Amino acid sequence: ILRGGEVLGVLTVQNKTFREYPEEDVETLQSTAMVLAEHLLSNPIVSPNVPAASNSDGRDRTRTLHVHGQPIAEGLALGYVVLHEPRVVVTELTSDDPDAETKRLETALVELKATLDELIDQGELARDGEHRDVLEAYRMFAKDRGWQRRLGEAIASGLTAEAAVERVLNQTRARMPRQNDPYWRERMREIEDLSDRLLRVLVAQKDGGGLKKELPEDAVIVARTMGTADLLDYDRSKLRGLVIEDGSGQSHVAIVARALGIAAVGQARGLMDQVDRGNAIIVDAESGEVYVRPGTELVDAYKGKARFRARRQSKYQALVGQPGVTRDGQRIELMLNAGLQVELSHLAASGADGVGLYRTELQFMIASSLPRLDRQTEVYRSVLAGAGGKPVVFRTLDIGGDKVLPYMQPVEEENPALGWRGVRMSLDRPALLRTQLRALIRAGAGHELHIMIPMVSEPAEFTSARALVEKELELAQKRGQEPPRKLHLGLMIEVPSLLFDLENMLPLVDFVSVGSNDLMQYLFAADRGNPHVGNRYSTLNVAFLRALRGIVEAAGRHKRHVTLCGEIGGRPLEAMALIALGFRSLSMTPASIGPVKAMVLSLDAERARLHMAQLMSSGLSNLRDELGRFAENEGVEI
Ligand code: PEP
Ligand code: MG
Repeated sequence: ILRGGEVLGVLTVQNKTFREYPEEDVETLQSTAMVLAEHLLSNPIVSPNVPAASNSDGRDRTRTLHVHGQPIAEGLALGYVVLHEPRVVVTELTSDDPDAETKRLETALVELKATLDELIDQGELARDGEHRDVLEAYRMFAKDRGWQRRLGEAIASGLTAEAAVERVLNQTRARMPRQNDPYWRERMREIEDLSDRLLRVLVAQKDGGGLKKELPEDAVIVARTMGTADLLDYDRSKLRGLVIEDGSGQSHVAIVARALGIAAVGQARGLMDQVDRGNAIIVDAESGEVYVRPGTELVDAYKGKARFRARRQSKYQALVGQPGVTRDGQRIELMLNAGLQVELSHLAASGADGVGLYRTELQFMIASSLPRLDRQTEVYRSVLAGAGGKPVVFRTLDIGGDKVLPYMQPVEEENPALGWRGVRMSLDRPALLRTQLRALIRAGAGHELHIMIPMVSEPAEFTSARALVEKELELAQKRGQEPPRKLHLGLMIEVPSLLFDLENMLPLVDFVSVGSNDLMQYLFAADRGNPHVGNRYSTLNVAFLRALRGIVEAAGRHKRHVTLCGEIGGRPLEAMALIALGFRSLSMTPASIGPVKAMVLSLDAERARLHMAQLMSSGLSNLRDELGRFAENEGVEI
């Protein structure tokens, strides 16, 4: 007895003598189970041992509710709860006119497909290429004959069209293998999303309602789970925040929330059942706190925090047109990290000098099937067009480890961070890399093209990757395609072995970029995704800083452009330390450009260099306090 993916109970049928249950009987029992599920939901069975609750659902819906979740997209939102698709409750389960129900279903399916076509082909979504990939998968499923046949059979067994949708969904849920597997979880989410859409179309047939998702001002969506396409259906101009009961920082919806610039918190367990539409809500996606029905003191405190953030933002806004130059005239290149086409809008808005890291795998992660050559070419072309002549460094696929492609068979690995990822996978599956390189070279026709290889551990890996690039360039030439104006091929320094082979490595590359997120995790042997150890070691630890200094100095000797694109580049104190070590280019999340630029404009780089040199030989291991003091004394904006 299933309802909304939850097992409410089991309907057991016994027979005194051996009996084979024919298909029709199974159908009838399934319909019975469904009617029972509805009945149980509206008349819950309460054990006589459970003490009487204070109100109907045992919860006080007037008091402030506090839930601690996990921040998945940074920001702060004060607004009002909009429940994401409180499920369409199917009240009429049976019908004695299957023909009429079949007609209703057919009409609804036609409308559903038309809506999807419209979403795919028109308006904003057509530009946001990645969202189109998600919707394409829905469209494919909507046309799936197996699904339509099962719906037809359910109606033939005496159910209404709505009940048929619900039943087929329940059956699919029950049959879906390995719910822990990210591939199947994503597939299930798509099927649930599509079934909900179909249910809404069916209900709208009766009520005359529509599919459009109107939002009140300052809307904060609360959802059990949310598909990326569903999030994109909401009016972005009124959307302030998102709270979901599941979801992690790596989920696709988190990636999209970040790209849309809304505050989002995941893992808010049990929230949906404790909030009502229109409740006031505060989402603090810095700390992961969510407050529903907050008292006035809490609202005032958060309004203060929001004002402070807004003031800071407007101050940074004033710096957009200014180049990042230190007080003593050192030009610091401030670049953006991005991975979705929508994020390119941040390029102009933040005043960044270009895209220092374009994580191409994000496009692959939110698609439901492997993006083909043409699709990839189209995406890279529009990224270059969106950058308007500013440089974009495309990193080739960095999958494996914590980055899983939903449509690729996951590989069981005991230590995925040390496993088959980045360039290792790309070289073992050259067709994947070659397709991507071909797409990049096509898109880069006439442009200056920057390609960067991730997770390189030794020169031979880079040389092999370069050979593939050269093959693709030759092929393009043979086909008479216009080549890129210039192609720069670089690598990421993320694996410590490279630190000890820079002299061999640097002559082979056109540029390097330090991936400090991974470099730190490997240097300190501390899994970046594990909260017990991930933040255990200071990013201003002298051992790590020495490694970074070694890279800058070697790059200087070999006259190679060096940048850093890990998270630390976006933190003002760390960025100050990096400049003191000699970095003149940093790449970071869009929200960091303003704060880091303010720091750069207030810094004397030479004085910082001298101070850093002293600190590095002072015998201290963690330079955080000392550097903080330096910033304070020097009036550096941290
Ligand atoms: C890094 O490792 O620092 C980096 C920028 O790459 P990612 O975070 O995508 O692994
Ligand atoms: Mg990395």
